[in-house]
Amino acid sequence: MSVPRTNGKLIVISGPSGVGKTTICRALRGRGRIVRSVSATTRVPRPGEVDGKDYFFLTREAFEAKQAAGGFLEWAEYAGFLYGTPRDFVEKELAAGNCPLLEIEVQGVEQLRGLKFPGLYIFLAPPSVEDLRKRLEGRGAMAPEVIERRIAVARKELERKDLYDHVVVNDTVDRALAEVLKILDAAL
Ligand code: 5GP
Repeated sequence: MSVPRTNGKLIVISGPSGVGKTTICRALRGRGRIVRSVSATTRVPRPGEVDGKDYFFLTREAFEAKQAAGGFLEWAEYAGFLYGTPRDFVEKELAAGNCPLLEIEVQGVEQLRGLKFPGLYIFLAPPSVEDLRKRLEGRGAMAPEVIERRIAVARKELERKDLYDHVVVNDTVDRALAEVLKILDAAL
């Protein structure tokens, strides 16, 4: 009989919009026992985004029905849209000894910490707020007032670094990724 592996651990990567979470998370995919959790959201897909791969794109009604049924481990309203982590995926992967990777914003982390959900919580920070502003401007197609709103949210998020086990400054992707990998190597 095979011995079940029970050493799965939740990995949470969080940080302000524009800081580079997606790039770091993409680089982590497929390493060791890391499996990326696909969130549900009510926002519309951006060009190139695929339903079921980038997000599960739901109507507000469908999201709220799943939420009411306890289908989300955590959820948040961000910039007018709902986002949530499917509970069944995370529980199934943890039970299999894998490490579900969540790329979520700070309100979701507050909920998980409130539940005392065991895991490794990493905050990805910009070198400075000015640097974050430049990154958001560099994405193009974002109106100045949208950028200012994101910066205001980011300032609030930066005040919650205390929620995390580690703060990694994303000065360059290669350096930040190396630091995250070192943290994971030591913890998993
Ligand atoms: P975006 O719309 O730019 O893809 O995501 C907006 C923000 O929502 C990002 O900070 C992203 O990490 C966060 N987010 C994505 N999925 C979830 C989720 O399931 N729960 C929470 N709390 N935040 C999420």
